Amino acid sequence: MKLKSHLHGKRGADLLHDPLLNKGTAFTEAERDALGLRGLLPPHVATQDQQVARVLETVRRKPTDLERYIYLISLQERNENLFYRLVTDHVTEMMPLIYTPTVGLACQRYALIFRRPRGLFLSLHDRGRVKQVLQNWPHADVRMIVVTDGERILGLGDLGANGMGIPVGKLSLYTACAGVAPDQCLPVMLDVGTNNAAFLQDPHYIGTAQPRERGPAYDALVAEFVAAVQEIFPRACIQFEDFGNANAFRLLREYRDKICTFNDDIQGTASVTLAGVYSALRLTQGRLADQRFLFLGAGEAGIGIGELIVGALRAEGVSEDAARRQCWYVDSQGLVVAGRTDLVEHKRRFAHDHPGATSLLAAVETLQPTMLIGVSGMPATFTEPVVRALARCNARPVVFALSNPTSKAECTAEQAYTWSEGRAIFASGSPFPDFVLNGRTYQSGQGNNSYIFPGVGLGIIVSQSQRVTDEMFFVAAKVLASLVTEQDLAVGRVYPNLQRIREVSAAIATAVAQVVFQRGLTQMLCPEDLAARVKAQMYDPNYPDYV
Ligand code: NAD
Repeated sequence: MKLKSHLHGKRGADLLHDPLLNKGTAFTEAERDALGLRGLLPPHVATQDQQVARVLETVRRKPTDLERYIYLISLQERNENLFYRLVTDHVTEMMPLIYTPTVGLACQRYALIFRRPRGLFLSLHDRGRVKQVLQNWPHADVRMIVVTDGERILGLGDLGANGMGIPVGKLSLYTACAGVAPDQCLPVMLDVGTNNAAFLQDPHYIGTAQPRERGPAYDALVAEFVAAVQEIFPRACIQFEDFGNANAFRLLREYRDKICTFNDDIQGTASVTLAGVYSALRLTQGRLADQRFLFLGAGEAGIGIGELIVGALRAEGVSEDAARRQCWYVDSQGLVVAGRTDLVEHKRRFAHDHPGATSLLAAVETLQPTMLIGVSGMPATFTEPVVRALARCNARPVVFALSNPTSKAECTAEQAYTWSEGRAIFASGSPFPDFVLNGRTYQSGQGNNSYIFPGVGLGIIVSQSQRVTDEMFFVAAKVLASLVTEQDLAVGRVYPNLQRIREVSAAIATAVAQVVFQRGLTQMLCPEDLAARVKAQMYDPNYPDYV
């Protein structure tokens, strides 16, 4: 009997303990005979469908979402194909468990739920030997790296080394949503200390218990990491994730023209939000050039969205100046205006000549925005008076409460619909359940960058792009918006049904790869049928035959 080469000679217990190869009870009779598995498994041979049904039932029986998360991670650690079949078959149910909001809770409790390490941990003590550490990773063909320093995990702040849950979760979405092969994904934690006082006191904290490094040692570690990746994994794209905003903007500026890298909080969020804006315009029948955007929060997400909107407006012929004047910000100190002396560079580009306003409500009343976008990480800030004021000046007020996790959302779906008498066009970063008002069911959309980064990443991988550009995120937004159906809009959803995420990601990947080839960002030649190449490259979680 001929054994398939992807087993790399593995058999018996070694096979059962390799999560990339293990099929558990689904090893067939022939495979059990050929691979020395007889007796190591219970006699009943299950199909993968039966296994999916069983693990789904187990997930549902768990008493809390955190328990469900722990179970799912343990499933991923023993059988990746089954984990990904479960997640792709039931993506709407599983995504909130493996990603926001549950992953936030998991990071907060990481020390207590820690079972097996996943990903690479690099600390300040590894300076001078980062290359050797990367060489310890068991897979050679890494294509996508998600790296964090844990300083701004979702809207939860500094979670230090516990933030590793985020790169792990994001890369699971690369695989589940876009079919990036699991062994091509590498989660990385740069442990540079933490300023989380509780963790510094906690004897179970898994990271380096020292205050966060802010000096040259920090930059040296990042630089050594980036250089080592170019050497050890030369085809990898590095996604910076959940860095504090001072480092996020700076590192993006430093590396974007030198290596293949992007910052999802800045660029991915911008793309998904612009897509939601385009869809909302179909409902309001408005034009982008006539909108006034008011952001609560002028950090990575807010400024990233503003910059992409400016790019989109410029593509429509609006001048840079006029485009910037369509975007307004309220940060923790009030309305961002030219007269303020406390503004960092990325905010100054959107600081207009205008009297200040100390509250969001005052800003809404004076500016009369058409779209209100929350990226502040501050819950309950879209108050009833704020939403009512917005609803007074718009027939269809657009309310995007994008802060994660759910506990940080600026308002809930129920509040947005109730306070606007059902007229709001609402989206949120973490999902909200359907809401019924006056007999009508509203299904709000999830304005989460998980609609964007998996497809963008796949496009970069397929085309072997050497850079990541803003144009890719603009194109991704257009593709995502184009896939929103009239049925989606009819129930209030400005994004496609999540169940279609693999199709969405494939379309985004194809469009992104097209940009790569058109702009000459790769040494590869464009394949004849790019869309087919993208689809062919997508990882399939169905079990292969081994004999
Ligand atoms: P950040 O730290 O870079 O920026 C936060 C901004 O909020 C800062 O400008 C800060 O001044 C402002 N702020 C803080 N308190 C405020 C207050 N009381 N009133 C007004 N503004 C206030 O963080 P970020 O990366 O921009 O992320 C912000 C939030 O957006 C987080 O909750 C994050 O989870 C969420 N986010 C969501 C998505 C998504 O896909 N939906 C993507 C990225 C970020």
